[in-house]
Amino acid sequence: MRFSKGNLILILVFVGGIIMPTAILSFLGFRNIQNEMFLAQKNFDENQAAFQKDIEDAINKEQEKIYQETKAASLFLYEQPRSLLEFGNAASFKDVAGIEAIFLYNNESLVYPDISSKHFYNTHDFSAIVASPLEQRLFDAEQDTSHSESLLPRLMKSSSLFETRNEQVLNILGIVRLCYRNKDYNEALKWLKVLESHPHLQGYLHADLTRSVNLLHFEILVKQKKHAEAEDYSLSVLNQFLQSESIEDIPSAKFFFETAFSQILSFEDLSQEKRESFWNLRANFNRQLGYMEILSKYRKNFEELLDNDFTTKEGILYRNDNGITLFKMGYPLLSGNQIVIAKIDEEAYRTRLLEKVKNISQRWKNVPFSIVDERDSILAGSIPDSSSVLSQSRLSEAFAWEFSLYEKDISEIRQESRQRMYLMYGLLLFSLITVIFGSFFMFRFIVQERRLLAMKANFLSSVSHELKTPLTSIKMFAEMMARGRVAKVEKVQEYSGLIGKEATRLENLIGAILNYTRMEHGTGAFKWEKLDFSVCARKVFDAVEDIGVEKGLEFHTRFEPGAYVMGDYTALYSLAQNLIENAIKYTNAPGEITISVYTEEDRAVFSVTDTGVGIDSSEQKNIFNDFYRVGDEMTRSTKGSGLGLAIVKRVAETHKATISLSSKLGKGSTFTVRFKKVD
Ligand code: ADP
Repeated sequence: MRFSKGNLILILVFVGGIIMPTAILSFLGFRNIQNEMFLAQKNFDENQAAFQKDIEDAINKEQEKIYQETKAASLFLYEQPRSLLEFGNAASFKDVAGIEAIFLYNNESLVYPDISSKHFYNTHDFSAIVASPLEQRLFDAEQDTSHSESLLPRLMKSSSLFETRNEQVLNILGIVRLCYRNKDYNEALKWLKVLESHPHLQGYLHADLTRSVNLLHFEILVKQKKHAEAEDYSLSVLNQFLQSESIEDIPSAKFFFETAFSQILSFEDLSQEKRESFWNLRANFNRQLGYMEILSKYRKNFEELLDNDFTTKEGILYRNDNGITLFKMGYPLLSGNQIVIAKIDEEAYRTRLLEKVKNISQRWKNVPFSIVDERDSILAGSIPDSSSVLSQSRLSEAFAWEFSLYEKDISEIRQESRQRMYLMYGLLLFSLITVIFGSFFMFRFIVQERRLLAMKANFLSSVSHELKTPLTSIKMFAEMMARGRVAKVEKVQEYSGLIGKEATRLENLIGAILNYTRMEHGTGAFKWEKLDFSVCARKVFDAVEDIGVEKGLEFHTRFEPGAYVMGDYTALYSLAQNLIENAIKYTNAPGEITISVYTEEDRAVFSVTDTGVGIDSSEQKNIFNDFYRVGDEMTRSTKGSGLGLAIVKRVAETHKATISLSSKLGKGSTFTVRFKKVD
């Protein structure tokens, strides 16, 4: 193939602009990959240091954040209600994720929680209050005769005060329960009041008896639908609770108040205003009660922390024992003499810190590490089987977490870089293949386009030549006769015959061109009908037989009737005509041509076999292209337009028929067209 200037430029652009850069990039990429292993090893050491720093920074930062949040939350504690009258007000309170309770002190005394400043947490004398002498209290009760009922002395008369008091109380409670069960609420209330107005009677029994009595009283009032009275009663119990000398049994108090306030909140006749107050009361009071519970349970831990001077410069001191973790916060984190002690909610605190660790370890996927807590359970990462520990450090001040980094298995590094290498090789190979294939197909497309253009040009010139040759002959003979130069009648007849022959040739040629353009414009002009292909093929044969016989060819035909197909007669005629004429054209005498039409299952088959020049296998796929003519001697010496088989192909396509060709150079060819048969 010869390259034109335009083609050459195109190839240069292709090679210079796409293939060369891709090749250079691939080469650089390959070289880069070679360094990958070395880099991977080097990177790993750097990564490990960076990872360790990231983890430590993140934990410290998160802890610092918790301190700041705790500090901010502690400011709200000054605003919390302290007296009964204030409990009904809404108070803003701030929770800190990871912190269960915050206790605020100023100048060593408790600011929050402080329900009753009278009794609560006066450091060392707390135990003295709890152990106040029983006898003293009983004595006080004996003196207090203002509420005594006539029944009580009678009950107590029968036995001595110290031995049978339990029994008496139990008896009274028994009576109350009996009345309650019999729905004799007034009677039950009467007995309850006896018990309540003589608190010393309960002194012997478990502390939660007081609350049981309170609850029974409250529930009876609710049962009697005396809602206002029940509300007042719960408040009076609350008042009593706040005024009491010591708080002995917080859980039972909590149970009473929670039950009573919840019931009150469910009263339908409760006014909106009251509902809000009780709602706030319940929230404020319960919170403080909960805090006090912690305080009384871990009193020793709190005292020790308070006594301990700060050792860290940030003003933070941790204490972790008895299964609880506290931290104390003071100057310089807090100003003046303020002290905050926070109880850590271990689960939430741990989740908060581990969340950060998780985020970081996701970024550094291939650094082996582990975080293990005091109980040796693995919180994050994993402990590799074989590799040794590189470094170990403590994480988090709150918990004694051990953070370990491990040596990385060298084969693992190799494998990783190898995987990356394969990926890169794959990508490079893919892009190279894409570029090469792309270039190839584009090049082929351009060459085909150019060839087609050349063919069209060739066609035009050959067609005009073909048109001109018969025209010139016609013109010449016509002129000769017009000038009267031809005197003999035989000559006039001969010339007229020649004029007619040339005109027929011209007509055929124009017919082929018209046929072709008709095909090009689609099937719109077709007239579809059911027809017998045998009839059509025979008509063609009859028209061309003489030409073949004249050339010295022998014909064999088989026109089996009933080969019905759906089609356009003119189109099918030209299909048959082109195939039969080609067989005649490309077969030299002596030769044979076999034309057959027959049916085969659901197909109608038309085949033309010749013993002619045959078609080279490399040319077989081209001959159906528009204007294509094989470039051999035989074709060159044979007149044609290169449109015949293009027409055959189009007609077959529009009729949904298949064409097959078997041919051997020098031996002959068989063209077979298979149509769908109709009944
Ligand atoms: P043409 O007008 O040149 O005959 P066609 O499209 O009919 O155009 O055929 C294309 C080419 O296929 C021909 O130029 C010829 O070389 C080849 N050809 C077609 N039919 C035959 C055949 N029966 N035997 C050998 N060659 C053939």
